[in-house]
Amino acid sequence: MRLIFATANRHKLEEVRDILGKNFELLIPADLGYADDIPETGDTLEYNALEKSRFVWEKFRLPCFSDDTGLEVNALNGMPGAFSARYAGAARDPKANLQLVLKNMEGNDLRTARFRCVVALVMGNCERLFEGKVEGDILYTPQGAQGFGYDPVFKPQGYTCSFAELDAHEKNRLSHRGKAIRQLADFLQRYEKQNQ
Ligand code: IMP
Repeated sequence: MRLIFATANRHKLEEVRDILGKNFELLIPADLGYADDIPETGDTLEYNALEKSRFVWEKFRLPCFSDDTGLEVNALNGMPGAFSARYAGAARDPKANLQLVLKNMEGNDLRTARFRCVVALVMGNCERLFEGKVEGDILYTPQGAQGFGYDPVFKPQGYTCSFAELDAHEKNRLSHRGKAIRQLADFLQRYEKQNQ
């Protein structure tokens, strides 16, 4: 099945390719000659994910999905949440974002947090949302060099290391994105069977 993944984030693309496997042919907007930004203007993950997928569907009229992910920190009242990409400013600098989370949590021993990922699928009138979450703790200092974004400060529950210290396969097995994308794959497989 041919699908567009509405992203310009190569880390997400690699993860999603690994999770979906060979049954899906994944394209990104850049493969179809679209290199501009995809609008993301809301203040919820659900709104942003749908906005990105609808935009790309309107352009190419091919089944399209996107992912919007937020790090929800309990001690920060759920922030940065839907603002995770621009937490430290419009430059969307992942290191600055992560450092700002650590700074805002200084002196606070309530470290619980979660990654929440919302995937929106748009194929014409058929629109579906899928959600994946992983609970964990914010570390006091960054650890590890794999992954991306906030991975070096997020320790998933039941583990002694950060997401950035796990190999890609292991992160995908337990991650927010892995959970949401596997639901997307199940839905698409059922949808294809019903419409054969
Ligand atoms: P968005 O979903 O592309 O808007 O990403 C929101 C922010 O969360 C960005 O700063 C990403 O770097 C970060 N982010 C998204 N997914 C992950 C992840 O799996 N691990 C760590 N950080 C992530």
